Amino acid sequence: MNPFSYARPTRIEEAISLFGPQSRYIAGGTNLLDLMKENVERPEQLIDITQLPLKSIEETPEGGVRIGALVSNADLAWHALIERRYPLLAKAILAGASPQLRNMASTGGNLLQRTRCYYFYDSTVPCNKRERGSGCPARDGLNRIHAILGHSEQCIAVHPSDMCVALAALDAVVLVTGPQGERRVDFRDFHRLPGDQPERDNTLADGELITAIELPAAGYAEHSAYLKLRDRASYAFALVSVAAALEIDGGIIRSARIALGGVAHKPWRCTEAEDALVGEPAEQSAFEQAAQRILQGASGFEHNAFKIELSQRAIVRALTEATEGTAA
Ligand code: SF4
Repeated sequence: MNPFSYARPTRIEEAISLFGPQSRYIAGGTNLLDLMKENVERPEQLIDITQLPLKSIEETPEGGVRIGALVSNADLAWHALIERRYPLLAKAILAGASPQLRNMASTGGNLLQRTRCYYFYDSTVPCNKRERGSGCPARDGLNRIHAILGHSEQCIAVHPSDMCVALAALDAVVLVTGPQGERRVDFRDFHRLPGDQPERDNTLADGELITAIELPAAGYAEHSAYLKLRDRASYAFALVSVAAALEIDGGIIRSARIALGGVAHKPWRCTEAEDALVGEPAEQSAFEQAAQRILQGASGFEHNAFKIELSQRAIVRALTEATEGTAA
């Protein structure tokens, strides 16, 4: 690990003013410290943001909920308001990592965790995400955990978060503060596809800090499901995950949200498929059509093509479970 300086500001403005070209903000450190130990990240300065006043969960005047960026994953999942109004989010969080990690990991940091592509963490091999133009050994190598949607010639990595899949389905908004002031970013615009800049995971500008996540009023509390399929029953990243949320009236779908994890560089939404479900009976044939729409254009590699059919089945199953009612 390289030497670095360390600062622990107590005000947001102070944290932002300290940020330089080789700085990193650190909260729980559950991903950044691993990256530093593996020599993937080599910051010259760590700005510890744990003393900033970003630890509250509050209802908004619009009927939604604002979650401070430093709320731990565990505190968020077990918060009464989240359990009652946004059970999809609580379930997704509890499907990820381990209790110890969820106690340390922050809400803001969850959005910023980096891919678990094996080659990305091995600094002895090339990787376009670590060093643009060096190559992507995953394309012809071990690619069981890699993308089937939205990948590029340069990178086929996937985003590893479970929480973010639920936040994408719930149409969350990311609140950001930086040298240029404050802004709000729709969740679907926060993470990006790799394209020809795979080193960029998201649309944050240098020095920008996530301060909060806002959830809209609609929480789909009655009909939602988070389905995670993985190689081990716990403490494993998703091969495929699905966040499904429905509003159903008299057996007819009035609103639908579907987000996929483990299949792309960002949580995957297909609003065409969601819109096509509106007005349809909440039953298998409609779910199968939605799954086909979402997977249109999917393509796999030597070891991960199975994810296409797995995703189709997982979408149908998650929508069926959501229709039956949110599990307690
Ligand atoms: Fe690097 Fe992306 Fe290729 Fe993995 S998939 S080796 S992260 S460029």
